[in-house]
Amino acid sequence: MNNGAISKPVKKRIVILGGGFGGVYAALHLEKLLACAPEVEICLVSRDNFFLFTPMLHEIAASDLEITNIVNPLRKLLRRVKVFVGEVEWIDLPNKRVVISHGHHKYDNHSDRLEYDHLVLALGSVTNFFNLPGFAELALAMKSLPDAIQLRARIIRCLEEANSECSLGGRQSLLTFVVAGGGFAGVETVAALNDFVREALQFYPNLFERMLRVVLVHPGAVILPELGENLGHYAQKVLAQRGVEIRLNTRVTNMIENEVYLKDNPPIPSNTVIWTAGTVPNPLLSSMPCEKASRWRLPVVLKRHFPSRPSGCLPPLAAGQASRGFSASTSRASSRGGYGAQFT
Ligand SMILES: Cc1cc2nc3c(=O)[nH]c(=O)nc-3n(C[C@H](O)[C@H](O)[C@H](O)COP(=O)(O)OP(=O)(O)OC[C@H]3O[C@@H](n4cnc5c(N)ncnc54)[C@H](O)[C@@H]3O)c2cc1C
Repeated sequence: MNNGAISKPVKKRIVILGGGFGGVYAALHLEKLLACAPEVEICLVSRDNFFLFTPMLHEIAASDLEITNIVNPLRKLLRRVKVFVGEVEWIDLPNKRVVISHGHHKYDNHSDRLEYDHLVLALGSVTNFFNLPGFAELALAMKSLPDAIQLRARIIRCLEEANSECSLGGRQSLLTFVVAGGGFAGVETVAALNDFVREALQFYPNLFERMLRVVLVHPGAVILPELGENLGHYAQKVLAQRGVEIRLNTRVTNMIENEVYLKDNPPIPSNTVIWTAGTVPNPLLSSMPCEKASRWRLPVVLKRHFPSRPSGCLPPLAAGQASRGFSASTSRASSRGGYGAQFT
């Protein structure tokens, strides 16, 4: 493993970590703001070389869209920003540098150090199964492009398997799809999945609609809590009309290969459980030597810099998962009163 350093030019360097909504919109904003400031270099580091439009991820899982419809190459989107594709391994706040590994094969994988003057954190969140037994091993997440592709493949595999004459005994669990979590991601996923499997049935001579079960499990009294009760009730009515079973005021507790267990409810035989019920801020944030709010979130103040930071450091700027729910310049963020990262 080579430990290279990407030397810092005489310029001021702003490093943005993360190429999702927070990172890309920060980069676009900075590109405009600093168009006439050639002494400032903007560098965006992300795992993938594309921006993923997550609100349409479920449409990949349900075969409604092709992958290229929801990804946008970062290098096309950002003309002035230097794009660095790699995995952020470590944020060294006291020395103002980040360690990034890259390279695909085990032989050419190595890490580089990238120095910065200002840092923008937009690494998003990661799926959290809250250590519920069986979920990390057996449930499917719905957060990344590979997750959506995997879900689509799983649905098709279940339909194929259930259609075969010899799978009579396992048909019920093969044809029962459970989504845990009634927020945006869960509701969008269950709706798309439900349409997909019902439309696909016509191609499977041994399968009928009465055999299908699509279940949404939500711990609250009404789904889509971000939208308020009226819209939540409306969404529930529409989903129920389309054949989705909605289990409210309960939560999944554990799962085995062909069964998922619910609190105070009978278990559901199912081979496919999709988890959209929890995320936590990116674990890299928990390693940073600065004040944390609940669940490793970083508290931010109005100008988006941390109230506490190691002395001698310029304030890093926080976009993404911060304690007040400022997540990105997306409709969801604005519905919660959030707005994009601001820079001084
Ligand atoms: C299925 C689904 C549906 C959704 N629907 C909606 C919706 O309808 N409306 C809405 O407003 N919101 C929706 N959301 C939520 C929305 O996607 C998030 O609020 C938004 O993506 C958060 O933006 P972010 O920039 O903080 O994080 P992200 O968009 O997750 O970006 C984080 C970026 O950091 C990169 N990264 C992370 N760790 C590393 C690392 N160690 N090294 C390098 N790169 C790294 C990731 O690859 C990614 O590019 C949905 C989410 C999902 C999953």
